[in-house]
Amino acid sequence: MLAALLYGKEDLRLEQVDDPTPVEGEVIIRVGAATTCGTDLKVWRRGGHARMLKPPTLFGHEVAGEIVAIGEGITGWQVGDRVVANNSAPCMDCFFCKKEEYSLCHNLLFNNGTFAEYLKIPAAIVQHNLLPIPNGLPYELAAMTEPLACVLHGAARSQVKAGDRVVVLGDGAIGLMFVATLASGKEGWNSQQPTANNQQPFTEVFLFGGSDQRLQIGEKLGAAKTFNYKQIEDVSERVKQLTDGWGADVVIEATGVPSVWELAIACARPGATVNLFGGCPRDTTITVSTEQLHYSELTLKGVFHNTPNSVRAALNLLASCTIPFELLISGAQPLQNLAQVFEDMKQRRVVKVAIVPDVL
Ligand SMILES: [Zn+2]
Ligand SMILES: [Zn+2]
Repeated sequence: MLAALLYGKEDLRLEQVDDPTPVEGEVIIRVGAATTCGTDLKVWRRGGHARMLKPPTLFGHEVAGEIVAIGEGITGWQVGDRVVANNSAPCMDCFFCKKEEYSLCHNLLFNNGTFAEYLKIPAAIVQHNLLPIPNGLPYELAAMTEPLACVLHGAARSQVKAGDRVVVLGDGAIGLMFVATLASGKEGWNSQQPTANNQQPFTEVFLFGGSDQRLQIGEKLGAAKTFNYKQIEDVSERVKQLTDGWGADVVIEATGVPSVWELAIACARPGATVNLFGGCPRDTTITVSTEQLHYSELTLKGVFHNTPNSVRAALNLLASCTIPFELLISGAQPLQNLAQVFEDMKQRRVVKVAIVPDVL
C-alpha cells in the first residue's frame, strides 16, 4: 500500500509498504479520510514527539474508515463497518486508570499511520476506542472525533459556567473547536448543563488569533467577538476592557507557546480558571506571579489528550450536526499531495485538510 513515513524534521516520504494484516484482537481499516492536525505540523517540524512516535514511522493520527479485515477473537465488528478509531487507548489497569484518570494512563498506547491506504488498529484501541460511525456522517467529519474529544475533555475541566466570559487564545483548529463548543453550551457533557429556566446568557467567547480568515470562521462558530492580536498592543488590557476591568472568567490557551501561557494567566480575573491546553516545546518554562496566583486564587490547569468518554461524546456531537464543524476543513486532497498540504499548513493557508487516499 501507499503510506507516508516520517523520517525526521520536515522529512515526510510517500512509500510503498506491505499491507497490514491483523493478528488476534486487531482490525484493519481502509482509510476513508484522515484529517491533518496542528500536532502533525508540530511533530513534522520538530521531527518527532516524545510520547506519540519515534521516526522513522508511519504518520498521521485522525482517521475514519471502513473495516476490511478482522483478526481472531473479535466479536461485534464486521467487514464493511464504518468506524472511527481514536489514536490511543488507555490500558485500564495502571495506577491512573484505576482512578479513572485515563488521559494520564502510564501505558497509553498510541497508533500512527493514518496517512496511508490502510491502517492497523491495535487490540487495545479496538477494545476501548473503536466506534461505529452513525449513518449519514461523512468520513471527513467523523475523522475529527479525536481532536474534538481532546477539546471536550479540556472544556469539561475548565469550569465554565453559564454567563461566563471566556477568552480563547489561538485560532488553530483546536482554538476554533473550543470556541464552537463553549459558545454553544455543548461542552458540558459531564458537567452541569445550562437549564431552560436559567436566565443567564450562554457563555460569551472572545477569540484572539493571527489570521483574519480563521477569525471569521471563529465568528461563524459562535465567537461573540474576534481580535487579530497583531493589531493589538496589549492583549490582556483589551481583555480587561471587555470584562468591566476584571479579566476573563476562564482563559483557554491553545497555541503551545510559553509566552502565550503567560499571557493567558495575565488575561484572567481573580478566581479564574486558566486552561493551559497547548503543549509547549520540551524543557520550556514559564514565570508565574506568586502574588497573582495566591491573592487572586487562580486555578491553573494543564490538560492533556482525551478519555474514552470524551471520544464517545465527541462523535455524538459531530453526528448531531448542531455545530458546523465542516468549516474547519479547508478541502480534501489525495495522499500524493501530502507534502504540499504540510507546506500549506506551515504557511497557515489551510486549517484542516482531509487526506482521502482514493480521491484521484
Ligand atoms: Zn490531532
Ligand atoms: Zn493505564
